[in-house]
Amino acid sequence: MSGVSQTLFNEARLYMPGGVNSPVRACAAVGAEPLFIERGRGSRVICADGENLVDFVLSWGPLILGHAHPAVNQAIREAVDRGSSFGAPCRAEVELAKAMVTALPGLEMVRMVNSGTEAAMSALRLARACTGKVKFIKFDGCYHGHADPFLAGAGSGVATLSIPGTPGVPEAAVADTILCPYNDLGSVKDAFSAHSGDLAAVIVEPVAGNMGLVLPEEGFLEGLRELCTKHGALLIFDEVITGFRLAYAGAQGRFGIDPDLAAFGKIIGGGLPVGAYGGKAVYMRHIAPQGQVYQAGTLSGNPLAMAAGLAALSVLRGSDYVALEQKVEDFCKELESVFTSRSIDARINRIASMFTVFFTSRPVRDFAGARTADAGRYARFFLHMRERGFFLAPSAFETAMASFAHSDEDFLGFLKAAAAFAG
Ligand SMILES: *Cc1c(COP(=O)(O)O)cnc(C)c1O
Repeated sequence: MSGVSQTLFNEARLYMPGGVNSPVRACAAVGAEPLFIERGRGSRVICADGENLVDFVLSWGPLILGHAHPAVNQAIREAVDRGSSFGAPCRAEVELAKAMVTALPGLEMVRMVNSGTEAAMSALRLARACTGKVKFIKFDGCYHGHADPFLAGAGSGVATLSIPGTPGVPEAAVADTILCPYNDLGSVKDAFSAHSGDLAAVIVEPVAGNMGLVLPEEGFLEGLRELCTKHGALLIFDEVITGFRLAYAGAQGRFGIDPDLAAFGKIIGGGLPVGAYGGKAVYMRHIAPQGQVYQAGTLSGNPLAMAAGLAALSVLRGSDYVALEQKVEDFCKELESVFTSRSIDARINRIASMFTVFFTSRPVRDFAGARTADAGRYARFFLHMRERGFFLAPSAFETAMASFAHSDEDFLGFLKAAAAFAG
């Protein structure tokens, strides 16, 4: 890091803890310093020092259309000219809610919020209210935002920083959180037996993206659906990443599983701060003011965020997800052989436009497996790739994101740079 970024980072640290507003951005886990990004266009970002990088982070998922997509930017410009916030209903929130309900088979009603954190937190509150039960199951390595009850065995930055339990979260706040290993239906069955009658919900990332990418095995999500139905617990899909990324119809559409509730964020805001939760009307109608479950937000349904999200979904509705997936699949196969042909232990998990390189010899199907990966080698890989113009997530416990804006040259360049790393 040189010049401008160094100056900015030095100043940032004076005024903000660690100099950043979200921990993994600091790049400490890979022994680097943060990128101060000045602008982005398509698949590329340009940093304050002039570094020009192909971006495989994409704001951690929202930018499936790439940076500064013309249709999204135009919608934001038009919206801001009409005013930035009203604290009263506007047309765009009705249209976005309708677009989501139309796209996602399990969704009948939706409530807009301002982040994925708020969405997951509110969905859990609703599940507890509707069932009259308190305990819930979450999976080791899954991340559902930073609300207290989810900060047990959490992925993403919590995993990156190896924070066992976060100071400031009272034991009582996680006392009703039951942890199970991802893809381990047997342990979920055991938890239902041990806590029969007390479980309000099972919350799961239908494709886990916060311990690196981990796919659900055959029968896992179906099994969760059956167990929840059998025991009167609600199944909550955290689709903050997978919504409109795994397919336009989300994970629920792609896998044909019908969750009771679901949380959204990232792509539905088109790059602006947003979240949403929704599901079956029988549950959603308990939200105030239709029902008694309180949840509110000064900027919820913000007209700029709604306009950006709506524009993004309009483009995505006509986008070829299958072609993008094929491109990423071909790329990942070549990338894996780049490593394995040079006797580097590497496993690549991939689905749709997401992939993670795990430097390990074993298949990765849960958080314990993800932790067998060589974090030191990942850090060296990150630094090597950044030197050659590629921005990867600065942590081994994150997922690389591709977009409709990535070109064949972007993927080819990545393979060449990776080959140079493999030696
Ligand atoms: C990013 C993420 C969240 C949190 O969303 P924020 O907008 O960062 O609060 C929740 N769940 C999952 C699966 C996520 O990837």
